[in-house]
Amino acid sequence: MPPAHPFDFDAVRDVCDDDKLKEECGVFGVLGTTDAANFVALGLHALQHRGQEAGGIVSYDATQGFNSARRFGYVRDNFTSQSIMETLPGPLAIGHVRYSTSGSKAQTAIRDVQPFFGEFAMGGAAIAHNGNITNAIALRRELIERGSIFQSSSDSECIIHLMARSLQRNVPERMEDALRRVEGAFSIVAMTRTKLIGVRDALGVRPLMLGKLPTGYVLSSETCALDIIGAEFVREIEPGEMVVITDDGIESRFPFRSRKSRFCIFEHVYFSRPDSILGGRSVYETRENIGRELAKEAPVDADLVCPVPDSGTPAAIGFSLESGIPYAMGIIRNQYVGRTFIEPTENIRNMGVRLKLNVNRALVRGKRIILVDDSVVRGTTSRKIKEMILDAGAAEVHFRIASPPTAWPCFYGVDTPQREKLLAATMSEDEMCAHLGVDSLKFISLDGLYRAVGEAGGRDSAAPQYCDACFSGEYPVEPADMIEKGFEMKAAE
Ligand code: SF4
Repeated sequence: MPPAHPFDFDAVRDVCDDDKLKEECGVFGVLGTTDAANFVALGLHALQHRGQEAGGIVSYDATQGFNSARRFGYVRDNFTSQSIMETLPGPLAIGHVRYSTSGSKAQTAIRDVQPFFGEFAMGGAAIAHNGNITNAIALRRELIERGSIFQSSSDSECIIHLMARSLQRNVPERMEDALRRVEGAFSIVAMTRTKLIGVRDALGVRPLMLGKLPTGYVLSSETCALDIIGAEFVREIEPGEMVVITDDGIESRFPFRSRKSRFCIFEHVYFSRPDSILGGRSVYETRENIGRELAKEAPVDADLVCPVPDSGTPAAIGFSLESGIPYAMGIIRNQYVGRTFIEPTENIRNMGVRLKLNVNRALVRGKRIILVDDSVVRGTTSRKIKEMILDAGAAEVHFRIASPPTAWPCFYGVDTPQREKLLAATMSEDEMCAHLGVDSLKFISLDGLYRAVGEAGGRDSAAPQYCDACFSGEYPVEPADMIEKGFEMKAAE
């Protein structure tokens, strides 16, 4: 174990980021360019916000066959090395970045880092996914009883074993067969020797984009990663669609029963990068709209609107524009607090938020401050930020939150604390306000959030347009594994 370091940035990350929901994965794939793995590395770098714990790339080259590299840490620290990239030749590659649900590198084995690879009678295939298979426990149990030998603890390995047992003739057909047994919310990129394959679950909960390069095609969790490699955005993969891409073009299949889409509304609020496009809408503009809605729903007399950087920034700008209250950077984020694998020390953990966020004292002294943040999960960071602002001499602190109260865990590929650890699961809005010790606390309403993402009539309660289970407790895909583990669903009203 390396010695403790006086500046333990891992501890800082943990203190600050444990109070956020965390997207667990990003996927990227390229077909039809020389050294596709280099493009995949760049794409994964642009998707790093979707998972910082580990990453992997599999490539295929006609002479060298399949090759893979899987590493802990940032993409830039691993997949920029010539010695690694030279081992990943070929015109076809897929990659994955992940965040560990267990929260610690020591608890995650490299065998859980995707993409996974399987050798079948008709050739090999690699697969990476973003999201969750909600019946993975039952599937794994059944597969093990029938003789499958699992090499990882990841639920996506079930797909490889289901494909191995399928009697279909080729990999795409075997994958279709496998996916019909799988329930959940996921986007997949996969590859064979000649094909790049993309799949979205029947509800399209997680994103997957199709891009075009001059000589090939790209699949990516977000459009911002297409931009970085100069790919043109073509379209989103449809909910329930499987695309099979070869040098001859794109074939589209629909292996799932047709259902109304339920895209994750939290992608608009927080997970996706603000320079991405989702559902034809700029994520940045949507977040600005959320701020405007919040200002209409929960106005307050104040001197300055300040974001909790960086994720609260567009909503704070929207709040300021709508309310006419000046916008200012009352909190400055140290952009260089990154991740290391140095073990935490208690004294640095206690400094926590201050190492990452610092109050602009001259600006806030004597002022009534509206602080705009994207969400409140446990409330630990919000309390510390409030203390810092008051210590700096602010006269009042009003929290405005760009999402409704997060009262339910996500089981669709987002790391959330257990329900009892979610502040909104155990407290009313007034109780949360008292607990955080702020002058006022308001969350955007669910209808307000829907209006901000373009649904002028708000949420259709009979047939919601998005997945909003972490706010509403209404899960569009039954979390069978979690129910087996004792999770209690919300009682029907
Ligand atoms: S539960 Fe929340 S975070 Fe999870 S997919 Fe649904 S909206 Fe997104």
